[in-house]
Amino acid sequence: MADLNTDVRYIRGVGETRARALQKLGIFTLRDLIGYFPRRYEDRTLTRPIRELAVGETVCVRAMLASDPTAHRISGGRTVVKARAVDESEALELTFFNQEYRKNSLHRGDTYIFCGKVEGNLLVRRMTNPIVETEGRQTLTGRVVPIYPLTAGVSQGLLYKAVEQGLAECRHLLSDCLPDSVRQAHSLCHSGFAYENIHFPRSPEALDLARRRLVFEELFLLTCGLQRLRCRRRDVSGPACHGADMEKFYGKLPFPLTGAQKRAIGEAVADMVSGRPMNRLCQGDVGSGKTMVAAACVWFAAQSGWQSALMAPTEILARQHYESLGPLLGKFGLRCALLTGSARAKERRDILAGLASGEIDLCIGTHALLTADVTYQRLGLVITDEQHRFGVDQRAALGQKAENPHMLVLSATPIPRTLALIIYGDLDVSVMDELPPGRQKVDTFAVDESYRRRINKFIRKQVAQGHQVFIVCPLVGQEDQIPDERKAAAAYAKKLREEVFPDLRVCLLHGKMKPKEKETVMEAFAAGNGDILVATTVIEVGVDVPNATCMVVENAERFGLSQLHQLRGRVGRGQAKSYCILLSEHPSEETKRRLKVMTKTNDGFEISREDLAIRGPGDFFGQRQHGLPALKIADLSCDMRLLDEAQAAARDWLAADPELSAPESRELRQRIETLFAVNAEGLN
Ligand code: ADP
Ligand code: MG
Repeated sequence: MADLNTDVRYIRGVGETRARALQKLGIFTLRDLIGYFPRRYEDRTLTRPIRELAVGETVCVRAMLASDPTAHRISGGRTVVKARAVDESEALELTFFNQEYRKNSLHRGDTYIFCGKVEGNLLVRRMTNPIVETEGRQTLTGRVVPIYPLTAGVSQGLLYKAVEQGLAECRHLLSDCLPDSVRQAHSLCHSGFAYENIHFPRSPEALDLARRRLVFEELFLLTCGLQRLRCRRRDVSGPACHGADMEKFYGKLPFPLTGAQKRAIGEAVADMVSGRPMNRLCQGDVGSGKTMVAAACVWFAAQSGWQSALMAPTEILARQHYESLGPLLGKFGLRCALLTGSARAKERRDILAGLASGEIDLCIGTHALLTADVTYQRLGLVITDEQHRFGVDQRAALGQKAENPHMLVLSATPIPRTLALIIYGDLDVSVMDELPPGRQKVDTFAVDESYRRRINKFIRKQVAQGHQVFIVCPLVGQEDQIPDERKAAAAYAKKLREEVFPDLRVCLLHGKMKPKEKETVMEAFAAGNGDILVATTVIEVGVDVPNATCMVVENAERFGLSQLHQLRGRVGRGQAKSYCILLSEHPSEETKRRLKVMTKTNDGFEISREDLAIRGPGDFFGQRQHGLPALKIADLSCDMRLLDEAQAAARDWLAADPELSAPESRELRQRIETLFAVNAEGLN
């Protein structure tokens, strides 16, 4: 066997047909094969007396065949072979579908190990299609066996044997990609031991050791790879910026900046003077003042003569930015423009001319900023707000407008830095974990249906005081059916209008509306035309309605904590005391516990940590831009500590050997290159 990149078909006992089956699982090479990890394990070391078996459990029994197997044809051309086996305690009925050969391979009077799920009842116990092995020739029984994720045409047995054979052939090839010193410092086992025991654990302890090592390795490789990508980016040059006295900017602001704001600005400024393009994510809770960070960067870039573009996901958000940033930057003699899809032709022409001539310093808008006819004289900084990441196509579009501009992404999804580094891959991360002083806490209550009347009374009271209310409406469909958002929202709003609040102005916003319609509704509401805004979750995006003081969330149990936190961020933006009411009809203990977190804290980072602990990071990963290597073994809901450890180790290692040119880094470097070669497309 040549090396780990050898095609699996050359592994003894695999061959063409099986290799094709394995390919369906993404297994092409020997390395893929031994890197195909079990989903779980079954302890089949012991056999149990038939009498003691409970229906539903999966077990092994040692029993003697007590009858000659019989074969019958049944409907659909299938065959069924039946037999009966006994041990000292009881009998077991055996049924095999489409395994006609069992008729001749099972012999009355012989003893076998049968392994399968127990069916039947107290009187008769049965197994359907059990594994059958003979003592002394056991592979799938008599030990702890790995259970692999499968696909059609690939059985556990096939995989099991292929992996076993694969391991045997490559045992001597498994060199260790982790440098010895790293392995020792973190008490990790050797890679050979790890691969052996992750597939065929010798003991529970050995399995733990193996898993720990492989998780660490995966996270270490990923971190090293990402860090190297960041470095590689440093090989191109970004728009040149020279230092400027930030105090000149700070001095004219209406308020002193928070420490977190200054830190984030400092990090961005350092990026921009580095000569390399900035690629930074600034993440901070709603209301942490990310707009100011953007403003400071725009001002800073302008000091070196660069234009900036600020992209918001919706027109209304773009307009809100324009209204706050325009006057602010105006104080410094900078000119802003608002460019959205709905700009009139003349207006649009003027803006385009201003951008091309360099007269406009900051252009705020939606994706309209990227359309073909928009050209900039000297675009140096691109900021995107409330968006997780630029899509690849948008990056390409942007590439037409400027060469390697500085990029700043503002995100209101607070997640731990370690996780952000993985999810956002090649972005550097600034965390804003501090709110401007004097922020009021939004009082939050988690209640059940019995509070309905009191809630309605409370809503009236808020409206009577001149405030506005958001109600996030439930989306409940028939069982097993995806609810029709439009219908559900309309029906709910109708009920509120006609039965509950006939005297109030109830507006409706839902995700199936056209963007234009949404904006019209949102704008009218923001302008005070409406007392209650019924919405599906579309209001999640950072719209500012300072007069809204109350948010009611129906079916709160359906939302993740981070999502609830985002929703809650829509209130508490003005002077008045604000409230958030989380309604849940029949809260389970689990739901109660989750919602209680919301009533206890307003800190987005704390909430996201809880959310992670409860639900795992799946949801965060759901939103990420693909292109990163998928995690095969690490599970970030329980491996967070190991993630910290691996990231720290990776940073240290790269600090000492940034080019991975030392002999101890050779294997590591190769592994990273293989890992990222496949995924490089999405990351560049
Ligand atoms: P977000 O991070 O959610 O985008 P914004 O930038 O919209 O937050 O800021 C929220 C509000 O806080 C705005 O009204 C802004 O003027 C105000 N603000 C920002 N920074 C400060 C500060 N350092 N001190 C006081 N108020 C601030
Ligand atoms: Mg914002």
